[in-house]
Amino acid sequence: MKDLSDLTLKKARAGLENKDFSAKELVSATLERIQKLDPKISAFLTVCAESALKQAAAADEMIARGKKLQALGGIPFSAKDVFSTRGIKTTAASKILENYIPVYDATAIKRLGAAGGILIGKTNHDAFGFGSSTENSDFQVTHNPWNRDKVPGGSSGGSAAAVASSLGFFSLAEDTGGSIRQPACFCGVTGLKVTYGRVSRYGVIAYGSSLDTIGLITQSVEDAALLLGIIAGQDPLDATTLPDPVPDYSQSLKQGASELKIGLPQEYFITGIDPEVKQSLDEAVKKFEELGAKIESVSLPHTPDAIPAYYLSGISEVSANLARYDGIRFGHSSSEARKLEDLYLESRAQGFGPEVKRRIMLGTYALSAGYYDAFYKKAQQVRHLIKQDFDRAFQKIDLLLAPVSPFPPFGIGEKAEDPLQMWLADIFTVTINPAGVPGLALPCGFTKNNLPIGLQLIGPQLSEPTLFRAGQAFQVATDWHQKKPNLE
Ligand code: GLN
Repeated sequence: MKDLSDLTLKKARAGLENKDFSAKELVSATLERIQKLDPKISAFLTVCAESALKQAAAADEMIARGKKLQALGGIPFSAKDVFSTRGIKTTAASKILENYIPVYDATAIKRLGAAGGILIGKTNHDAFGFGSSTENSDFQVTHNPWNRDKVPGGSSGGSAAAVASSLGFFSLAEDTGGSIRQPACFCGVTGLKVTYGRVSRYGVIAYGSSLDTIGLITQSVEDAALLLGIIAGQDPLDATTLPDPVPDYSQSLKQGASELKIGLPQEYFITGIDPEVKQSLDEAVKKFEELGAKIESVSLPHTPDAIPAYYLSGISEVSANLARYDGIRFGHSSSEARKLEDLYLESRAQGFGPEVKRRIMLGTYALSAGYYDAFYKKAQQVRHLIKQDFDRAFQKIDLLLAPVSPFPPFGIGEKAEDPLQMWLADIFTVTINPAGVPGLALPCGFTKNNLPIGLQLIGPQLSEPTLFRAGQAFQVATDWHQKKPNLE
């Protein structure tokens, strides 16, 4: 079996088809790599060796019988631990769901499985998706594979670290305010946040239902395009999924960036942005110009209001969504409680970590009588203004180009004690979720200390084909996405 870190999804598929190796060999090699390297980065909460090997055997049998291999036949992948997986522990990285085993699969998991994909494990993240460093997991801290003293970003830090370390070919993840783009950026991989409603949220543990989107962390734009074609589309089990047909995303990969109008939002190129991040972004802009894109400056005037509007909306929905963890229906139940009310109080006090409690309390406050108008309602009004900023910009341009994070990966523990600092790390990612538009994070450089830097392309609703078009042109012209951390 070849070294897994040299394999791309495409090459792995070709290898399986040409019988260079079997699905069992591919899955076993991935499991061995996880066993060897995951202790260094702690990306996985659960590894499903047994079920993965069983599925690999089924894929091999198909190949032996001369049947055509499905799009993902025999390909191992991971999923953030917020996706319900039938018979496999799903914790949301929270003690309250420590022993929860769902009886059904999330739609996205089901669709990947139907295409032959093999779930190899569930990845670590900030509990319920609340955080930007994966330090808010109740179980473990994930390390950045490029430098183990640094955070991998969050909340989907385990997914990004796993893909960067070639532990599975891609990871299914979730983005409410940056949880796919920011960890992808910190780990030097590709991250796609889709248009709200493009992919079903059915079976995904909710954070903020009006902001949550299901997406992918991949090795390349090409892989993201292939995989989105598999998971996107209307789902009768999620009434918020869009009825629009799913295009053939692979077509857009061939179109190049020439003639695309790309806007640089002034408000994102603020003073205070790390000079190395700024320099990489400037070089990426030049690259897009060389590829024939037209660059112009645009303004999104409500950007400074995005953090408060996002967090107020998000935590308000949190306080409602997390009410279901009552110690009775799911997960942890206090064994000492004698009265019903104590059962609720104690189960929640014991099961939720500090960041989850903070958000539930703030959210309950923002929604309470007397404060609702001042906080929640105001946040919804600002949300509307943010959406209008994007609508206005997209009348003139096709895409926006912006940094993902104002700084490179920070140290483990550096911001953990200061929740406000942590919230501010999301300044460039939270803006797009209230507007429901898609974003694609791409690696675009390294600091002199060898830490990844990323950019994001943002487009209007359902502009995923344009994002892929520009992203692919960039990745054909650069090799940032091909760099691998050395974990051996
Ligand atoms: N870091 C952001 C937050 O804590 C985004 C999280 C996410 O997208 N799930 O809310």
